[in-house]
Amino acid sequence: MAESTVRIGLLLPEVLGTYGDSGNAQVLCKRLQWRGHEAEVVPVALDSEVPSTLDIYLLGGGEDSAQVLAARRLLASPGLTRAASAGAPVFGVCAGLQILGTRFRGFDGADHPGVGLLDVVTAPSPRRAVSELAAIGDLVDTPLTGFENHQGTSTLGPGSVALGRVVRGTGNGDGTEGAVTGHVVGTYLHGPALARNPALADLLLSWVLGRDLPSLAMPEVELLRSERLAALPRRIR
Ligand code: GLN
Repeated sequence: MAESTVRIGLLLPEVLGTYGDSGNAQVLCKRLQWRGHEAEVVPVALDSEVPSTLDIYLLGGGEDSAQVLAARRLLASPGLTRAASAGAPVFGVCAGLQILGTRFRGFDGADHPGVGLLDVVTAPSPRRAVSELAAIGDLVDTPLTGFENHQGTSTLGPGSVALGRVVRGTGNGDGTEGAVTGHVVGTYLHGPALARNPALADLLLSWVLGRDLPSLAMPEVELLRSERLAALPRRIR
């Protein structure tokens, strides 16, 4: 393995892999390799310590009880918080977003601590949000698209800003979507989000490498994006 290999941590895929978000790791890996970088995906299993030496950490969506298990595990193994405090980017989707927050209420009515990398509190809403989801934000200059499937609604505190403003779907539940604190990003976008939003993938990679990446012409990705954008109201396409 080359010294400069970018190591993409895929956290607890056995329990945070229900919604296909593990594809985000493949997307980051491929977008690096296509530009000539060495990169590898490092799955971190539920029963192993989380290394603090990976270059970026990904968390996917998961079922309610699996999410509680994942949060407990990540609180017990300090590698993620250590790496994030040292500046490593972290990207969490849905259950991943909720775990990155300070706490979330389970469907048993109990509050569970999150790892606290985002200033976000989550509680279940009466209605499950199952829809296409789209948002416009400042981090990337194209609309973010994906699909959502969650019951939790998330409230941001002053330590996080929203990833975007919802233009279709529910997102956090108050018109905002996702949360950002420094290089820690959470979102309700499945898709996988980084396949559907390559600009977001490249933003995360620019944080990993400390510089912008050259653009990558990918007609297939543009075709997929234009199909998905066609589902949005005309005024924001
Ligand atoms: N269990 C969480 C919720 O329903 C997260 C679901 C998900 O990851 N898609 O809010």
